[in-house]
This record gives sequence, structure tokens and C-alpha cells, in this order.
Amino acid sequence: MKFTVTRGAILTRGLSHRCPNCGAGSLFVAGSMFRIAPACSRCGLRFERDEGGFLGAMSLNYGVTVCGFLVPVLIAYLAGWLGGRTAAVIAGLGAVGFPILFYRSSRSWWLMNYYLVLPHHLPANQRRIAADEDANT
Ligand SMILES: [Zn+2]
Repeated sequence: MKFTVTRGAILTRGLSHRCPNCGAGSLFVAGSMFRIAPACSRCGLRFERDEGGFLGAMSLNYGVTVCGFLVPVLIAYLAGWLGGRTAAVIAGLGAVGFPILFYRSSRSWWLMNYYLVLPHHLPANQRRIAADEDANT
């Protein structure tokens, strides 16, 4: 199936925190670091979907924090590049600071993942379907 909005476009829009449907604007309320807009200001795509969307983004945030920050600090400690006290301080500060800094990306990336798997759920990719056709294929 050929889509108007390709998976490549969904990927770049997700990585840059823009609407996956039209590519305009930001997922977040202007001037707010953490408040996600309920819907796109241009096309009206709902960004706030359900509690599962928030939970999924937080799981992604946790995973990236552990694998992308805490494990490298642990490896640096085990390799002898960092002392125990230094590694503990870096890990402690990073365990709090990294998820805060990554919050916006985790929300955007989670939404991006949804539409990467189901690109036909984007309004821009929908078309009229025949009576005997399944909308989820
Ligand atoms: Zn939009």
C-alpha cells in the first residue's frame, strides 16, 4: 500500500517533535516544556490519545535512560574509567536529570512508533475503503 505520509516522513517528524500527520508545528504547547497539545493546531490530529500513550512514553523514557545513560556509566565504572563515588554521583544525577531532558522526545517518539507500525491510521493516509475491505490491513 502506498501512503501519502511515508514511514520516513513519520520518522523525521517524530524525531523533530512535529505532527506525524501534517508535519507542522510542535507536539507541545508553545512556551511549555512538558505540556503536550491536545491536538495539532493545523490538522487537528489528536496527540493526547489515552493513558496508554503516556505510560508507553514513560516506559520508553525509562528504557532509554537505563540503556543509554546508566549502563554506560556502569560500564565506565567497571572498566575503571570512573571511580565508584564519581560513578554513583553521575548515575544519581543522570537518573533524575536524563528522564526530564528526554521527556519531550519520549512523548514524540512513542507517538511516532505508533504511526510507524500503523501508518494507515494517519488521517492523511486514509482513503475510502470498499465494503468488503478490512480497514486494518
Ligand atoms: Zn498536524
